[in-house]
Amino acid sequence: MSVDLKSLALPGVQHLQPYQGGMPVEELERELGISDVIKLASNENPLGLSTKAREAVDRVLKDGARYPDGNGYYLKNALAKQLGVCANQLTLGNGSNDVLELLARGFLGQQHNAVVSEHAFVVYQLVITAQNAHVVIVPAKQWGHDLEAMAEAVDSQTRLLFIANPNNPTGTWAPLSSVERLLQSVPPHVLVVLDEAYFEYVDEAGYGSAIELIKQYPNLVVTRTFSKAYGLAALRVGYAVSHPDVADILNRLRQPFNVNGLALAAAQAVLADEEYLQNSIEMNRQGYQQLTSGFEKLGLDYIPSAGNFVAVQVPGDASELYRSLLQKGIIVRPIALYGMPNHLRVSIGLPEENERFLNTLSQLLSDGGAV
Ligand SMILES: *Cc1c(COP(=O)(O)O)cnc(C)c1O
Repeated sequence: MSVDLKSLALPGVQHLQPYQGGMPVEELERELGISDVIKLASNENPLGLSTKAREAVDRVLKDGARYPDGNGYYLKNALAKQLGVCANQLTLGNGSNDVLELLARGFLGQQHNAVVSEHAFVVYQLVITAQNAHVVIVPAKQWGHDLEAMAEAVDSQTRLLFIANPNNPTGTWAPLSSVERLLQSVPPHVLVVLDEAYFEYVDEAGYGSAIELIKQYPNLVVTRTFSKAYGLAALRVGYAVSHPDVADILNRLRQPFNVNGLALAAAQAVLADEEYLQNSIEMNRQGYQQLTSGFEKLGLDYIPSAGNFVAVQVPGDASELYRSLLQKGIIVRPIALYGMPNHLRVSIGLPEENERFLNTLSQLLSDGGAV
């Protein structure tokens, strides 16, 4: 007798759609037989690995046969100092996705629900669904999170409420005052998870980190990552800042060595590399100008973004344009899965990458007679 093995999985897991990342450069180069593919698809740092991070990795590689420090002592202390929090408020993760998953595993069961926004980062839905918990999706307001409606969507079974600030893939953001209003109106049995993956890039009046609010609102959890402005996406380091009790739960749940030794060393080094961070931010600021003025010249609407990417609305079928760009060696991200079938998300690259993307886009659009 055979059994449908998939039917043995937990019900929530049976309905999971695997996360689809951007296509790797190597894969497309192999397919097209070319060597100059550019990837503007995963919001990675176009500056590449910081020299200091690289040197730190080289230094610890010789210890590769040993387990890393499972408590991330030095990295946590450096973070605590920089953020003005205590080390016992920190949980390190194998990327911040790891921490998001720990939150779901620690606080959601099948009787619970979690609140997210329409067009929000898709990992929230994945980790909620994997717990067999219910996802409550609140309609977006002008592409951004409707924080008032999200607070109203909370009920007695809600345990988590996810806010991406700024959000990926829309680039929309909420001022700190609105975040605080939400915290005032959400009952204390709901953990509010504020995902600040793009925090370092944001240069908007009224924006601020929610970390300073944790003292007043112990149900607030803020997550950050080294994958974007700090340029360590491949090494996988992120963290949560929370009340020590929440950190205690997350630290009980995580794998003992969830952040590897190379990643710990690299994160500690790049955290001290202020010049790398400032270069990243400045390059991003200029790249944003370059891309958005290019879109304006092409008559394309885009969603103003506070992150290192822009969602641009394209005429006709965005997935077709995505495939045409692939044929020209340019990887961007179609976002139909985020309920945005008419947009493409483009990560801000090096100046020459942005230029090649804009020139190719212009050419494809005029070939298609769409502009
Ligand atoms: C990229 C991103 C993350 C970070 O992912 P890592 O696992 O740290 O690489 C988290 N949240 C959002 C909204 C993101 O776009």
